[in-house]
Amino acid sequence: MKRPVLAAAAAVFVIFAGGGALAQPAPAPSTTPAAPSAPALDFSKVVIKTTDLGHRTYMLEGLGGNITVAAADDGVLMVDSQFAPLHDKIKAAVAAVSDQPIRFVVNTHFHGDHTGGDAAFAKDGAQIIAQINVRRRLAAGTVNSLTGAKTPPADPAALPSRSFDKALTIAMKGRAAILRYFPDAHTDGDTYVWFPDAKVLSTGDIVSVGARYPNVDVANGGNIKGMIAGVDAFLALADDDTKIVPGHGPLMDKAALADYRAMLVQARDLVAAQIALKKSEDDVVAAKPLAGLDAKAGATPQGSANFVRLIYRSLQGG
Ligand SMILES: [Zn+2]
Repeated sequence: MKRPVLAAAAAVFVIFAGGGALAQPAPAPSTTPAAPSAPALDFSKVVIKTTDLGHRTYMLEGLGGNITVAAADDGVLMVDSQFAPLHDKIKAAVAAVSDQPIRFVVNTHFHGDHTGGDAAFAKDGAQIIAQINVRRRLAAGTVNSLTGAKTPPADPAALPSRSFDKALTIAMKGRAAILRYFPDAHTDGDTYVWFPDAKVLSTGDIVSVGARYPNVDVANGGNIKGMIAGVDAFLALADDDTKIVPGHGPLMDKAALADYRAMLVQARDLVAAQIALKKSEDDVVAAKPLAGLDAKAGATPQGSANFVRLIYRSLQGG
């Protein structure tokens, strides 16, 4: 099936989908979409913001996916690594809350705004941990769902050194991180991380909020139905005291997560109603089925159109 190739702006949307902390980039339209590995971003201006979640657990916001830091007496575990150029700033932010070395980096999925720092942290001695499909996709290279832009295979030194299939518990002195795989949601390699002592849940990009719709990476195993199922699993795990670190956007509680689920379900149903009329993907986009949700989501017309396409392809099994 022929896919429309969108402008470079769409490539940036996909890489940072849901990145509330990111200023809206405005690259010139181009027939050659920017490669996801080469965004025109000024990392020098990025400031890492640290939020104390209690029990020696912290949320770091910089540029790219949110990071969760869990400090123990014998080391630090970090969920996601943003971009390589931010390594020194992230390391300094971790050093400000713990004198222990970063021993583990868990990737919630393969996207470059969550894994870009892996190689640099591995060089520092961290073990990089990811679900097997993350390693597979990083090793093989990937194609962007919307733009067709290719990300080349990662340097072998940057690949996760430890992978798992369904679940893994990382025990540190006095605390644990529980890793669980959730299939076919944002991608086909999503991991969420639960810190029971701190009641902190790191969702990866199954949950992505801020001034845009989430990305559903259908070209890499993602599906809106899996996104909703993933959020249902998080709602079952959480209670009113749970602190939810989304893949992008501000810290959430269970009520905010329920709102997010309602938006996903509404968007899915609105696109499904158009599909039921036997419309083509382009015709569904032209009908602007999410118009009533765009303002609350803070989505641009392009962002809304992209989300419609990704839901459409999810529901078509694409
Ligand atoms: Zn992502």
